[in-house]
Amino acid sequence: MAKGGQRKKGFGAGGVRPERSTKKDVILYGSESIDAIPDPSLRKEVQSAISRYVSIFGSLPERQIKIADFTVALAPGPMQNTLALQFQGGKRSLNIRGIFLNKAVWRNNKETTRIIKELMDDGILSKTPRPVRHAIVHELAHARWQEFNSSRKARGARPEMTKIFRQFKRERRQGWGSLARQDVGEFFAEAMAKHASGAPDRYTKKVMRIVEKHNL
Ligand SMILES: [Zn+2]
Repeated sequence: MAKGGQRKKGFGAGGVRPERSTKKDVILYGSESIDAIPDPSLRKEVQSAISRYVSIFGSLPERQIKIADFTVALAPGPMQNTLALQFQGGKRSLNIRGIFLNKAVWRNNKETTRIIKELMDDGILSKTPRPVRHAIVHELAHARWQEFNSSRKARGARPEMTKIFRQFKRERRQGWGSLARQDVGEFFAEAMAKHASGAPDRYTKKVMRIVEKHNL
């Protein structure tokens, strides 16, 4: 069943938020449970990344984590370079809210790991020893950041996070990819992913301190 989504800029109500920006609308179809990931070792890796997230950060910010096919409306064909998309604020009845892993990428452990590692080697994602976990935690962290932005108790955390982000950008710190410098939301997602995937540093610690301080 074809499901469409309207993309809006950044984090806002409604729309699709592709990991790689595209000016064109993205169509999502054939969404299924992550139990449908064909390679059992990849399936296990994804499930263990989700459990790991919960054990470190306390709870799951988004329960709908699925796999789906994506295509760009104006240029049909699989989107090989997109790891995942997030639908936010979509109608629950249409089942388009949640995190959707791109079926073209999430087929088998070796291949998925290679694709994510390539994004690390190209300096886009920060380098960590656990690529699959990194990608899953990154997506879950976006959902959490979205939650922060709509929560009253998190109001004080945002300026603190922005301040750390500015420091981070000025310092041009090693060990982080270019995505982390894009905006505070990507910085937060990469910090959480680094923290959970065995590559913590001064900045991941600062981020975690803010999360703990505000009981987020
Ligand atoms: Zn991201």
